[in-house]
Amino acid sequence: MKKFLTATAFILCLAMGNVHAQNLDCTPKPMTKERAMILLSRPTFSHPIKSLIPEEEAASVDTIDTGNPQIKIVLYGDNTWKYVKDGDLLSSQDYFKEHWNDSSVDPFGMEFSSLPERTTLWLVDETSQFCCPYKNKVYSKFGYRHRRRHQGCDLPLKVGDPIHAAFDGKVRISKYVKGYGNLVVIRHQNGLETFYGHLSSRKVEVGDWVTAGQTIGLGGSTGRSTGPHLHFETRYSGYAFDPEWLIDFESGTLRTGVFTLKKKYLSASSRYVPESDDEEEEILLAEDQERAEAAKKAAEQAAKKYHTIKSGDTLGALAIKYHTTVRQICAWNNITTRTTLKIGRKLRVH
Ligand SMILES: [Zn+2]
Repeated sequence: MKKFLTATAFILCLAMGNVHAQNLDCTPKPMTKERAMILLSRPTFSHPIKSLIPEEEAASVDTIDTGNPQIKIVLYGDNTWKYVKDGDLLSSQDYFKEHWNDSSVDPFGMEFSSLPERTTLWLVDETSQFCCPYKNKVYSKFGYRHRRRHQGCDLPLKVGDPIHAAFDGKVRISKYVKGYGNLVVIRHQNGLETFYGHLSSRKVEVGDWVTAGQTIGLGGSTGRSTGPHLHFETRYSGYAFDPEWLIDFESGTLRTGVFTLKKKYLSASSRYVPESDDEEEEILLAEDQERAEAAKKAAEQAAKKYHTIKSGDTLGALAIKYHTTVRQICAWNNITTRTTLKIGRKLRVH
């Protein structure tokens, strides 16, 4: 907290210094409404979350430590500031190493059955911003198209239009891939991956740390494409889901800051449907059933009884004592009636 206050005071001083260029006195001054209004955090969040406009990015004038080595505060010439993550530090973390390679579209190899029923993905916060990769009406949606799976959505464009990274992340693939043409795949800190296909040129290399809004390539029509468009995919654990769950491409806004990815979205027949309450019900029901099964298993486990063999014990005597049968005791313990009962051995008897 102290560090934060120090940093805040420092920002104020710098900002004041920026307004009164000659004022180098950095002793904290009482906060007034006028002073507080000098500094604006960018972006200010509202719902839906607006896309960054990268072209209007003002020049940064200074960088300040925050006490967290992964995050710095950058001050801009227009008296705004924002948190900026240290890409070098972040990109060395495990989630950018595990299931990581620069060639396969799905490096995870996860069984569908092993995926969780729901996953919470933090898309934006004070340190993570969003930029619409390309703003236009979706002309070919996610899902089945002439009985072929279409794993993303298509946005028509003009060849050479800049394509922006949707979120901060590390470039996992940047190469020509059959079908996709020039493809860039970015992995984000929440595990989400975004795919940008059919590019006329790629502007980033494997391993690059990119920030939301950065131009990662130019629109084109390379690969299996009938005209210039961006093929955009969102994938989690290698499974694609409809990007329209996250982004309203026509307005260029992010629908939510925190997204609940449900397992059923990870199927090609699951298209974005605005406000469907039934799904909540289904998921809750499935969770109830899971809980009931877990409780049943726990109860069974708790009901188990064990007997430590003492001198003179026989399977017949144990069966009578614990109100069961010799056959059942043999089955539970994987033994036969001819097995020698060693003294001290534990047998399940109920
Ligand atoms: Zn497509």
